[in-house]
Amino acid sequence: MKKDPFGRHKSHSEPGPGDGGRTGSWRVKRPVIDLTKCIPAKKNKPACFTCWLFCPDGVITRTIPPTINYEYCKGCEICAEECPAEAISMIDEAVFIKKEK
Ligand code: SF4
Ligand code: SF4
Repeated sequence: MKKDPFGRHKSHSEPGPGDGGRTGSWRVKRPVIDLTKCIPAKKNKPACFTCWLFCPDGVITRTIPPTINYEYCKGCEICAEECPAEAISMIDEAVFIKKEK
């Protein structure tokens, strides 16, 4: 039987990146973290990580600074809604498509 991060046994599997396919192509808006506002980035300490905790697709890293895997981020906006520092902005994907051309 598998164990959760706290060492407790669990009978279910955890959702992870790619469980729903390459969900990044669903995205209309892209979450972008402002590192001047993000708490762990500002303090250079492992703090907050609310975005990591709430992301339903597990595509945000629990690192300093946190990063987002855009291949699987579907742009649901939960991270931006939950960030206590209002450090995550949802930017229209069209802006990035223009830049990449
Ligand atoms: S929730 Fe906001 S402040 Fe907290 S780690 Fe994520 S981006 Fe940074
Ligand atoms: S918008 Fe935020 S919460 Fe939603 S999938 Fe992307 S990184 Fe995760």
